[in-house]
Formats: sequence, C-alpha cells, structure tokens
Amino acid sequence: MPAIIRKPEITVLLSSARKIGIFLIVPALALWLTVIDSITGFGSPRKTAFAAPVADTSADSLITVTMTFVGDLMCHSPQFNAARQADGSYDFNPAWAEVKGFLSEADITIGNLETTCSGANRGFAGYPNFNTPDEYVPALKNAGFDFLVTSNNHSMDMGESGLLRTIDIIKKSSLGYTGTFTSQADHDSIRILDVKGLKIAILNYTYGTNGAYPSADHKYMLNVYDSTQVKNEVKKAREKGAQLVVTLYHWGAEYRPDPMWPKQDTMMRTAIAAGSDMIIGAHPHVVGPVTYYKGTGGAKLDSGLVAWTLGNFISNQSKRYTDAGLILNVELTKNVKKDSAWISKMSFVPTWVYRGTSATNKNYVVLPSSWSEKDSLPAWIDAASKVKMKEAHADTKSIVRKYSAKPQEKK
Ligand SMILES: [Zn+2]
Repeated sequence: MPAIIRKPEITVLLSSARKIGIFLIVPALALWLTVIDSITGFGSPRKTAFAAPVADTSADSLITVTMTFVGDLMCHSPQFNAARQADGSYDFNPAWAEVKGFLSEADITIGNLETTCSGANRGFAGYPNFNTPDEYVPALKNAGFDFLVTSNNHSMDMGESGLLRTIDIIKKSSLGYTGTFTSQADHDSIRILDVKGLKIAILNYTYGTNGAYPSADHKYMLNVYDSTQVKNEVKKAREKGAQLVVTLYHWGAEYRPDPMWPKQDTMMRTAIAAGSDMIIGAHPHVVGPVTYYKGTGGAKLDSGLVAWTLGNFISNQSKRYTDAGLILNVELTKNVKKDSAWISKMSFVPTWVYRGTSATNKNYVVLPSSWSEKDSLPAWIDAASKVKMKEAHADTKSIVRKYSAKPQEKK
C-alpha cells in the first residue's frame, strides 16, 4: 500500500466555445487508415506488441504527471442501507479505506459517478433509478478522487432536477466534473486541468441513457455521443491550450469485456481521428483489456491507449467478473523544451468488492484483489470471500493484459 501523498493544486481552466471560430473538420476516413493494428476492430481483436516510445532524456525539462482512473461508482440500495448511521446520516468512507492510498497518490484521480444525488425528499433508491445520499460524493473526495465524469445511462434517472442537484453536490465537495452541465456556458467550457504545467483536457460522452433525456431546450445538460461534437471539442481543447486530451466514454455491451458493440468501434475511431490521446471506457460492469494506438489528428502521445472498460469499482453486483474492478495508473512524461509527451509507465491495481455484514461494519469494502495472495488477512475476511477474491484477481490480470503485456500490476 503506497503512502498517502498530498496532491498538487490542480487548476481547472474553463474555456468558452463562443470564442472559437470556424472548425476545420478533418476527413476522418483518411486518418483511420493510419491507425495501427493494435486497435481492435469490432469482434476481431489482434495481439500487437506495444512499441515502447523512445524516452527523450536529452533535455532536463521533464514533467511527470500521474493519472488514475476507475470505472463505475455505483450505489445499489444495499450499499446505502449499510452506510446508514444511527443518527440517520450516511458514512461511505469505509468503502474506499483500503484503496485510499492508491487513489490519493496520483496527481489526478477520475471515476464515473453512475448515480444521482437527488435529495432525501425524493426517496433514496438503487436500480433502476438511482438516488444516492449526498454523503457518497464527499466520501469520494476523501478517498482521493479529484474529478468525476457524470455522463452515463443513469444521469437522468431522477430527471433534470436530479442531474442539476448532483452537480451541485459535486461542486460542494470540491470535485471537478464534466459530462453533465448546469447551463449552455457550463457545457461549452471544456475542462482543462493544469497539472504541474501540463494541460490535460477531460471529455466525457455517453452512448445514451435508459430512456430519459433533457428537454429540447436543455440539451446542454447531458453529453450524448455525437461524432461532430467529439471532433469539435477535441479541436477546441487543443485551441485552448490542452497538450493532452483524454476522452472518457460510457459505452459498450454490458457484461462483455471485449468491444463487441458496433457503435463502440465507431466511437473509438472518431475520438482517435479527432486527436484524443487516451480513451477510457466504462459501463459494461466488467473489466476489459487495455490496448494501444498510434495517435492521429493532432494527438500528442506517440502511443495512446484505449482502456475498453474499467469495470465496477464499487457496486452490489457479486457475480463473477462484476465484483472486480480496475485502478488504472498512467504516468505521463512531457519534455517541455521539445513539446513531446509519452506514456512513461502504465500499471493497474485489480480490485474486488468485499461484501460483509453489519456485525463487522465492513459491508462494502473495495480491496486490492492481490490481498488474496496474502497468508494472513484481517479476521473480517472469511474463507469463501478469499476464494472469490483470488478468482477475481486472476481474471482481471489475464483480461487486462489480453492484447498487451505492457501494463504491470501494482501492489
Ligand atoms: Zn452504465
């Protein structure tokens, strides 16, 4: 377990779209041809050796930035019932206590908030229309998260008012967000994080919702995937000074680790052609493989990455694969003098959600599944749980590295 390190101050630079003039629409098809084989086509993934970028150490102006991503942050009703305290408040902090070190040590930690905080007066609820106690969000901040992406199929579970209230709770918890928005101006302001002088744009889109959408007058509230919007916003991010662009997609087929869904392939290629440096996926509720691509369309990284799905970081789902998640760590190095950047390190922490009992006060606890290799575990972890954790650990390691042996497990 790494020591908890104080994070640097991250400035969120908001840029307004209204200042942007004419967009140059790059012919996407021409760019697709330059995409290297490591991109997995729909249904036919290929194994490709990752060509390690040549580290530029000739200059002394190197900046190193670490980014950590996790997948779906769910809150099914048994989770908030377990978090309820005698005084009626909710304590979600124990859920992330054992992985707080991993989440806190990165410069930026980002997760997919797949619920709403729509208020107690509307009744807290799990699936299918999620409404989670407000305390969930500051507990994420306390665990080490810096930024939440909020565009997913549950964004509109409690309507527009729920979507807006959720943003309010996120803001009050001093977390950044994108994917859902309070106004047209908020929507048009690309999030660019300034980390140690490296400017990183964060974009987020969902394939859709479970049926509820903002009204025609309020379309700005939710980023639903649109290829033209993705292209324009990557370009706008560049024009606003972003040196790297990370596109987080809510996409894919549920319970399928591989990209088995035709639209997913189109979405991935659109983001790459537009110039995204990294594509991070969520939604299938299972962990998927990581692969690499050669950046195009103005991407700065000489080898980007696609993480198809990071799985459930926390949920009440307990079937094989759905109880496992991924902490994905990306170390980026930038040569300031040469204006070049590369992925200097890639690692992952396989996680597993322990589901215990109120008697132990360990109801839902995200654990590094490498704990299953330990000879002795805390007394509250029973033998059956250890068996499931071990299975999840082996599953995740093999799935993540299916196309590339580059990512290393971090313990
Ligand atoms: Zn989803």
